[in-house]
Amino acid sequence: MAGFRSDAPFGPSTASVHADRGASDLPDVAPAIRPSTTFERDADRTYRRNGHETTERLEAVIGALDGGTAVAYASGMAAAAAILHHLDPGRVAIPSDVYHGVRDLVGSLANAGRFEIVPPDMLEAGDVWWVETPSNPMCLITDLEQVAGSASERQITTVCDATFATPVGMQPLRFGIDVVMHATTKAIAGHSDAMGGVLVTDAGRAEALRVERTLTGAVPGALESWLTLRGVRTLALRQERAAAGAGLLADRFHDQGLTTYYPGLESHPGHGTACRQMTSMGSMLAVDFGLAELADAFIDELELFTDATSLGGVESLVERRALVDPLIAPGLVRISVGIEDPDDLLADVEHALRTIGI
Ligand code: PLP
Repeated sequence: MAGFRSDAPFGPSTASVHADRGASDLPDVAPAIRPSTTFERDADRTYRRNGHETTERLEAVIGALDGGTAVAYASGMAAAAAILHHLDPGRVAIPSDVYHGVRDLVGSLANAGRFEIVPPDMLEAGDVWWVETPSNPMCLITDLEQVAGSASERQITTVCDATFATPVGMQPLRFGIDVVMHATTKAIAGHSDAMGGVLVTDAGRAEALRVERTLTGAVPGALESWLTLRGVRTLALRQERAAAGAGLLADRFHDQGLTTYYPGLESHPGHGTACRQMTSMGSMLAVDFGLAELADAFIDELELFTDATSLGGVESLVERRALVDPLIAPGLVRISVGIEDPDDLLADVEHALRTIGI
């Protein structure tokens, strides 16, 4: 079978299904599950940590979606740690609303003397400007073109955690960002059953990251790569449905007078920028109920939303975010919208709001 023409103007669903074409000699239409950790001496493979067929297929797909070269890791945090290790900066700038795990990682490396944390305007050549857009959990929007322009003038490397947007909703490399990071655990794998992370960048840096991944060992497992590859095939379809649901719910919360954070809302301060750099407003939103008790009561009344951390799966999840991130307002509820019928989700939310007297 002919390989995939990565220069062809295919849409994201086509790329998700075909970008790993020709990656295997097997006649199987579906990828084989290949758990072996080692291979006969004369084969073109040696040992799984050095490279694995299913992982390479996954990387081909995500690379095509994001417009770069992808390197996959055992988790989103492993990917974040790998790029900080690789860039080895003197200073790092990180926003205040950011996934708490990344904030803690950056904080612990700074405490260990690896680098200093500074505001973006104090960065110098060789430093790292970390952005996350939309941010977790407040869905704040960062203007990628502005960041990339300001960073490149000063030889600063930009890293964008685009987990909330997914590579079908936003491609930061197109705006001049140097490295994109996704926790594939979330929407890319999409079924809450496989952990993983990925970095997408230019081919030269990706090769260096691959060499370092072999040394540091943060490779994804064979089954996780297989599940994530299976998941990414339907990413665009799932995101379309989930974003429709998220938009419907965001409108409802906003109309109710609740402070609602969703980039698709015209009232969102980042709406204009989001419209410029995102093709889908995504499946994540946050709503501030003011009081923790009210937020908890709302969550208790929901039937179709599971009270659990994480996001991006086919099932809708809800979480009072202060339970895992102490910097977040006590009444803030983060919602990950799944692929259920949007009207059913809306009816569930309306019932819960009515029951708690809102
Ligand atoms: N980045 C974001 C925005 C996240 O939401 C998460 C996890 O929730 C991560 C990174 C870390 O990913 P993982 O849990 O796969 O390590």
